[in-house]
Amino acid sequence: MSDEYTSPAVSELPPFEQGRHLLSVSQFDLPGLRQLFALADAVDVIAKRRAVCTVLDGAMLGSLFFEPSTRTRLSFESAFLRLGGEVTTTTGFTFSSMAKGESIADTARVVSGYSDALVVRHPEVGSVAQFAAASTVPVINAGDGTGEHPSQALLDVYTLEKELAVRDKKVDGCRIAVIGDLRYGRTVHSLLKLLSLYSEITFQVFAPPSLELPEGIAQYVRQRGHNVSVYDSVIAAVANADVVYATRVQRERMTHELAQANTNGDLLNRALLAEAGNLDVVIMHPLPRDSRPDSYDLSADVDELPGLAIFHQTDNGLNIRMAVFLTALGVNIDAVTLTTKQRPWKAALRS
Ligand code: ASP
Repeated sequence: MSDEYTSPAVSELPPFEQGRHLLSVSQFDLPGLRQLFALADAVDVIAKRRAVCTVLDGAMLGSLFFEPSTRTRLSFESAFLRLGGEVTTTTGFTFSSMAKGESIADTARVVSGYSDALVVRHPEVGSVAQFAAASTVPVINAGDGTGEHPSQALLDVYTLEKELAVRDKKVDGCRIAVIGDLRYGRTVHSLLKLLSLYSEITFQVFAPPSLELPEGIAQYVRQRGHNVSVYDSVIAAVANADVVYATRVQRERMTHELAQANTNGDLLNRALLAEAGNLDVVIMHPLPRDSRPDSYDLSADVDELPGLAIFHQTDNGLNIRMAVFLTALGVNIDAVTLTTKQRPWKAALRS
């Protein structure tokens, strides 16, 4: 299988630090990841709206989403606002000058003149890197087609560590079932690369025919000492896994026939987990979950299970995206602490 669905040349990118773009998870090593996660922990009180922070007073975020988004856009924008900054937004091609044929480079040059940082989502692989090349301020990749979604992988791994820790387990040596549309689902591409920083993970992979994991990703992971085992059923992939990471069929990225070919029943539900003998498994999903009938996604009938972590992921996204902005803008935690105060009305609440 070819690698047309993943971002090219990401290994040449510099580490993610002050003044740098965030385009790929390949910009992290383990110490860099630890530093980002420590920052994400430190801003928790602000993320949970128990305190107000003004450290980014006067800073402006340009938020440009040329593909649909709910949680990624809102959590990036909320993260910047929580830190005291301001946000300007454009969504879709219709309401931007790209509808008049403006190039990515011109758009990037113009909006970076109005902003201190940019968050960009665009349907083409490599497009956000083109955006970054013409921008005068740090650009954060919020998803480039089927390429990467680095902030999603960061919040996924941050969540994974926490979920496993409460079960006295570690990411090193764990078994992760990765199921669903692994070809067009960019979150899995970023996630597997980022998890490659850890040791001896077993990825138990299941994808419907024609939606398999790109070979380049499997190779990347194997070259770093991990095991990738391919299964022909969800039940086999999930049995004995510590975690299951399920993904939606990315219908918007495929032909109607291909989308139809993969629509029957649920990808994962309570009955399948019971049959796999693994009702306690940690359940993750990048969301959105496709709730239409026969959408072949994660069923809502797992929502009462003890391992459901999907809404912990979305909550943690705010902390991670705050940490991403603080890193890109070079703001240290002392400055955050100095500009943070309690919210009197919250303190006054009974519980
Ligand atoms: N929200 C994720 C993304 O933008 C996952 C998905 O859409 O299925 O890639």
